[in-house]
Amino acid sequence: MTDPGSSAREDRVAALREARVVLVSACLLGEACRFDGRSKRSEPVMAALEGKEVVPMCPEVGGGLPIPRPPVELSDGTGVDVWAGRARALEREAGVDRTEAFLRGARMALEAARKFGATVALLKEKSPSCGSQHVYEAGKLRSGEGITAALLRAEGITVLSDEDL
Ligand code: SF4
Repeated sequence: MTDPGSSAREDRVAALREARVVLVSACLLGEACRFDGRSKRSEPVMAALEGKEVVPMCPEVGGGLPIPRPPVELSDGTGVDVWAGRARALEREAGVDRTEAFLRGARMALEAARKFGATVALLKEKSPSCGSQHVYEAGKLRSGEGITAALLRAEGITVLSDEDL
């Protein structure tokens, strides 16, 4: 699936350069909020955010999921399909449906972006929430976006990933 709200990489990076307020995946900032209890602190991300107002957000924790938590993958589609009601977010091993928590967290991320005036979101690639170019569906990496990235793009926020930097 193509990303309807995405632009070329250089356009996304230019938007980040010009943004004053940026919504950022909290794990990229060093917060240990990933499913495995670790962070994914990124020095290129930290450097790109220098001088900007940063709004940290972990949609999965915001949606009520614990740290650590079982890994989740998208099933029957990507984030866009989840919002359309034809795909789900399921725990990889047990198949427990976590879609509602993911939707809740995505809405919280959008609210935070609006509240603080973030026009750009810099999110962790390949996450079922934050992925913006690639996500895992049923064990395979495919093109597409996660549940939070899809909502932010649909609402006009430029989304790029750590892998764009
Ligand atoms: S990728 Fe997104 S949902 Fe996953 S830990 Fe990082 S901020 Fe949270």
